Amino acid sequence: MIWQDKIFEAVADDDELTEELRQLSDGCPVEEEASGNEDNACRVLLVSKDKTSQKWAPRWLSSCGIDCELETDPNAALQRLDELSPELAVVDAGMVLADGDRLYSALGKSAAELPVYVICGSDREISACLAAGIVNVVRKPLDWQLFCHQIQRTITATEDHVSLQHVRQSLDQALGLAAKLSVKLREAETFEPATGLPNRSKFLDLLARGRNAAERDDTSLVVCAIGFARFRLIIDALGQQAADIVKLEVGKRLTQCLHDFGPLQRDLEGLRTSAAGITGSEQFGLALTCYGTSKEVLKLHRHVSDVLAAPMQVNSNVINLLPCIGISVYPQDGGQAEALLQKAESAMREAHSMGGGFSYYSAEMDAEAANRLRLEHKLREAINVGELQVAYQPINNVSDDRVVAVEALLRWPQADGSFISPEEFIPVAEESGLIKPLGLFVLDSACRQLSEWHAAGFSWMRACVNVSKWQLTDSEFADFIAKTLEKHGIAPGNLDLELSERGVLSGSHDVLSMLFRLKAIGVTLSIDDFGTGDSAISYLKDLPVDTLKIDKSYVFDMASGGKSHAIASAMIALGQRLGLTVIAEGVETREHLELLRSLDCEQYQGYLKSPAVAPDAIVEMLCQPRLSDAI
Ligand code: C2E
Ligand code: CA
Ligand code: CA
Repeated sequence: MIWQDKIFEAVADDDELTEELRQLSDGCPVEEEASGNEDNACRVLLVSKDKTSQKWAPRWLSSCGIDCELETDPNAALQRLDELSPELAVVDAGMVLADGDRLYSALGKSAAELPVYVICGSDREISACLAAGIVNVVRKPLDWQLFCHQIQRTITATEDHVSLQHVRQSLDQALGLAAKLSVKLREAETFEPATGLPNRSKFLDLLARGRNAAERDDTSLVVCAIGFARFRLIIDALGQQAADIVKLEVGKRLTQCLHDFGPLQRDLEGLRTSAAGITGSEQFGLALTCYGTSKEVLKLHRHVSDVLAAPMQVNSNVINLLPCIGISVYPQDGGQAEALLQKAESAMREAHSMGGGFSYYSAEMDAEAANRLRLEHKLREAINVGELQVAYQPINNVSDDRVVAVEALLRWPQADGSFISPEEFIPVAEESGLIKPLGLFVLDSACRQLSEWHAAGFSWMRACVNVSKWQLTDSEFADFIAKTLEKHGIAPGNLDLELSERGVLSGSHDVLSMLFRLKAIGVTLSIDDFGTGDSAISYLKDLPVDTLKIDKSYVFDMASGGKSHAIASAMIALGQRLGLTVIAEGVETREHLELLRSLDCEQYQGYLKSPAVAPDAIVEMLCQPRLSDAI
């Protein structure tokens, strides 16, 4: 029958359930055990020493189609119970076992389903039976005809009871199985069997919930429609079984992406914030919440592309998929789940027509992402041909205006004499992984420069180098620092690593252990842009830092008085209290410097003294009379 096939199909991947179902369908009552079979005739056990009973019972019972097994010894009767398996027992009230127990009591205990009739000869015996819970009591002299009918009815009633119990058990079993089946059938309705991912309708449901969560939390929802270029060709070459392996692996990778962007959240209101699904025969969907800036959306899609494009082992082949990703974003591109997915799909077709890559539904985002990718490409080339340079900005003592250190800052000069700002290319370098080779280049350049200044007699000079959090998660970073210091003959104490408050204080265990490894080498650590992160400042007592660099925004506002002045002075006092060196950034005017002096700030950096310049200009400053001398 079709419905049975459907049920078996739904549970096909569940061996246990299939077996249970088979057993249940095999165990359906079948009317094959027809009556008339000798072995199936009813049997009554009569235990009696009474000659009249012994004579009449077999006759009357057999006239009702019931066999009668006679026993005169109560102990033997009890022992033969299993062998005889009677439907009913008739015993004399006076039958007593070897241990003194009444036979009727023992029979009742040993076979709970066995009805026992007791033939009593006196009121005393009747009372004893009733007290023992025996209700089938008959009194001598017996009307055997009547008694045999009674026995027959009791046997039928007991059989009915037993089969009723059996039916009830089967029913319970069937109901349990039905419940399991309905779960399986529901799953078959909402999940795609090859990947276990939500199917299109389920994905749309999750998308709608993600949209609701985004609306409530005032965030964005990035919807990706994902296909693969040349997928058909690959499948034709490798076969359908390989296609299933590929789909399964893609499903796993997408699920991994959900985890990479934070734990799967199913919040109190039951709103899912991220989801992956299979939205067509060779098409997947992904929905991720984020804050919706083009930078962040690009980061998400770049990560998804990288994860999907990584080589994939399929049987004995390694294949490289080329993802085609179409992206729409809630709320910009619409509010309905269906519309968002359709827009992502139309963008995906665009990506397909370009032979791979990605496409945004919104032209604005598309242009922005394309610009960033262009910049990434350009930066890669600039690194390869050595176009990037390092400039140095002096850091001076507030008290005597002596140059005590420099901050190494990257400069990317263009053919027309302009510069691309680090504010623009550092985030691109961080997202693309280029920050690692770039960071190493700056470190090496700064240490080489420092060794030249030391050799020229400016032995106190220190260099501060900005370090991105991506460098701190590279386990080889500390070794590289140690080797670079050794290579250029720099004492570790002359190198300072600046860690951005926002980047470093993610609380990651890897980052923290790297900071301690760096500290063990002997370099000093600074918290850069202090005051711009949203972390509690209690982290300061746990981190092995030496210096606080107060962000320029506080210094700019300080001169206007009010709260900024109070905050800057509190920051300086806090740093001093913790025994840290305090450097104020963005000092542009004499007024700034005077205020810092009045607050006992130790060092400063800013355009008042100099922007970042070439190394020779630093040497000139080192040789120049001090600013304080001119005041
Ligand atoms: P930052 O570490 O806070 O660097 C200080 C920035 O403030 C520099 O901008 C500097 O030129 C600018 N600045 C210095 N004095 C003044 C002033 O008085 N007024 C104003 N308005 N600005 C001042 P720059 O060079 O554009 O660098 C921007 C950011 O790029 C840096 O901020 C840093 O976060 C990042 N960066 C630069 N070089 C590197 C590098 O080698 N590695 C890493 N990871 N990041 C770098
Ligand atoms: Ca810095
Ligand atoms: Ca800074």
